[in-house]
Formats: sequence, C-alpha cells, structure tokens
Amino acid sequence: MNQIKKVLKRKYLLHCLVFLVTFITCSGIYFSTLSYEVNIDGKDIGIVKNKKDVYRLIEEKKREIKKEFEKDVTISQKITFNRVRVGEDKITQIDRFKQNLNKVIDLSIKAYSININGKDIVYLKDKESAQKVLDNIKNYNIKSTDINKIKEIKFLEKVSVEEKEISISKLKSEKLAYEYLLNGTNDMQKYIVKSGDTVWDIAKKYDLKMDDIQKANPDININKLKINQEINITVPKSYLNVKIVELASYEETIPYETVYEETNALYKGEKKVKLEGIEGKRKVEAEIVKINGVVSSKNILKEEILSQVQDKVVLKGTKKRPSYMAYGVFSNPTRGKLTSRFGKRWGRIHTGIDIAAPKGTIIKAADGGTVTFSGTQSGYGKLVIIDHGNGYKTYYAHCSKLLVKKGDKVAKGQSIAKVGSTGRSTGNHLHFEVRKKGTPVNPLTYVKY
Ligand SMILES: [Zn+2]
Repeated sequence: MNQIKKVLKRKYLLHCLVFLVTFITCSGIYFSTLSYEVNIDGKDIGIVKNKKDVYRLIEEKKREIKKEFEKDVTISQKITFNRVRVGEDKITQIDRFKQNLNKVIDLSIKAYSININGKDIVYLKDKESAQKVLDNIKNYNIKSTDINKIKEIKFLEKVSVEEKEISISKLKSEKLAYEYLLNGTNDMQKYIVKSGDTVWDIAKKYDLKMDDIQKANPDININKLKINQEINITVPKSYLNVKIVELASYEETIPYETVYEETNALYKGEKKVKLEGIEGKRKVEAEIVKINGVVSSKNILKEEILSQVQDKVVLKGTKKRPSYMAYGVFSNPTRGKLTSRFGKRWGRIHTGIDIAAPKGTIIKAADGGTVTFSGTQSGYGKLVIIDHGNGYKTYYAHCSKLLVKKGDKVAKGQSIAKVGSTGRSTGNHLHFEVRKKGTPVNPLTYVKY
C-alpha cells in the first residue's frame, strides 16, 4: 500500500510539472506578438507591429517633399523586415520611429546640376533656377559695365545644366548655389576687428597675403579697418570665370618721343632742345576684354587722330671739346684742411676760404679757363686768377710758386701753382675765391672740404 502511495505521488508531481511548462509557453505566445524589425540600408530603425505603418510613413514623407518641390520623389534604399517575436514593451514608439526614419531615409528627386568642365558642382530643383544662378554670376561680373556696350559675355569654363536624379539632401537654394559657385565654398570664415589690429596682423594670423584679404573683402578699404568691423578671411575661389568683351570708345593722349640730332655747333657732352615735344590726342574705338571684371587685353578697332604728336628734338654736340673749356663744375683746387670759412671775420669780410697745406703742395685749376693774372698783388701775395669764360673767375692766393703765366689756357685739374705763405699770411695755406660776375661767393657751395 505504501508502495502505491509513492507511485501516485510521483505521477502527481510529474503532471504538475507538465502543466507548468505548458502554461508558461502558452502564456509567452499569448502575451508576445509577431513584429518586424525594420532595416533601411542596413541601419536599424526600430520594431513595428505592422509593415503598413512603415509604408504609410514613407508615403507621408514623399508627399511632403512632393508638395515642397512639386516633383516626384523616389526612394532607392533597401527596406527589409525581419520577423521577430517580442514583448509589447519592445515595440518602438511611433514618434521615435519617425525620428529614426527621417534620419536615415534618403529620398531622391529629379533635379538639375550646374556642370562645370564635366563635373556636377551644385544641384537646383529646376532648370530655371540653375539658369538664374548662372545669370546672376554673369551680372555680378558686369557690375559697372554699360550693358549696351557688351558684345559678348561668357564663362571661360564649359558650363551646362543637366538633369540628374539626386538625393534630396544635395539640393541647394538659389542663394546658396550662387554663393557656393562664386566663393568656392558655403563656409566663409569671418573675423571681427579688434582694437590695435592691422591688416598685416590679421593676414599673418591666418597665413594670408594682404592681397588675399583685399580679394576677400572687395568693398572694404582694408587700410581703414574699424574696431568691431566684420571682415571675411576666406579667400573666394570662384568655380566660374567670366569673360566680357566690351566695346569702348575713348580719347587718349599720344605720348611724344625724344629724338636726337647730332650737331657740330655744340661741343661733345653738350645738349640743347631744338624743338619741344607736344603730346597728340586720338579717339579710339576698341574691344576691351575683361576677365572677372579686370581688363586683360585691348584690341583697337579704329583710331582717329585728333591732334598730331610732335617729337621732341634734342641737339647733341659732336665738336671736340677744348681742354681748357670749363665744365661749369668746380673740383677741389688742393688737398688740405679748411681753416677759415667765407664771410665775416674780425670785422672784415673774408672773400674766400683758407685751406691749410704744407708749403709746395700742388694747386690745381678748379675748372678749365684762361689765366688772366699770374703775379704778386698786395695782400694776396703770389696770385693766379683764372677766367672760366662762363661768368665765373677763381683766385688762388699766397702761393710760394706760380706755374702758369697770363694768357695761358689751362685745363680742369692742371697744376697752376704751389702752396705758400706770401702776402698777408701767417702760415702756409691756399686762399681760394670764387667770383660770380665779379662778386665773391661762398666757395663751399661749389667745392667740399
Ligand atoms: Zn683767406
């Protein structure tokens, strides 16, 4: 009997166990639901109960874009649904799911690219917008040019507008596309001028040239920066270069040339203007080629002389110059030390300069000329006077020895006497005088001691 009881008890326990396992399994199935793990191009978006919800959200997004751009929208990404069984709490909240979807979804749209030299640079929503951007860039370059005088305007690059299927994220507004093409970027760095800043400081700080800063700020005088002024420090590098051929008509002066005529009437080294030059004037019609607003070449189509140019004619001497002819420039007559200047001295006027030098030191003619006196004069002692034939005479006084006589023709630098202390003198020196039309003038304006 005891044995039977034991068997019954074991059976009972077994039944309880089977029941428990069945109950747990069934309730798991009952409480968890069949769901889908959504994947777009390998990226997890979330878990949904119903595929339809995903399609509905995508369609909603497409409609939104379609409304904004008035264009059909496509999606080229791969959407996958993996069947999963999860608890209710694992299902992604709808708002959260929408957020994830917006982050990952990449809708494509038919747009128009501005293609430069074979490369798509910017995308705009339609052909007209692309064309407008290109026109605005041309207009930017026209600036002050009279539109009626423009014969041709074109881009130096090969530019085309092409239809392309692109991701909506690549689309640019007209304003951004224009700035991007003009500057080479949409990220223009700015700098706010601080007290004490110079352009040079700013250029150095950003490793730019002064020219670059001017280029980046065409409408600002960079040498007159003000505190708190905002300047660009990104040098624009346009994708497009605009060539404008402009028809221009203007008057301009014709510069004269100088021609030389040789003449035996003048000595070598002498020049004389025979005829003054006169500038001419002409009216010109030309084609001016500008690249990005800067003149690059001029092609003259027609010119009309309004007044003739007259060359300047200068006579050039060929006659051999006599050795005694004055150059009109004095050289120092002797070496030595300046001991007395020209002007008032001891209540009298000193009519020359004194140069102290040992007795016998050679005295040279300060310029070419004719000796008009060579002898002794009271006060001066032994004296040489040279007439240079140009209104100037020079005096060399207190000499110890005279080497020339009256009537001699002497060349500039020729030895004429020796230093001494004759006449009213207290030591060996040369008293040197320059007389202009008979009046003593300061020799130190002609010679240097
Ligand atoms: Zn003197």
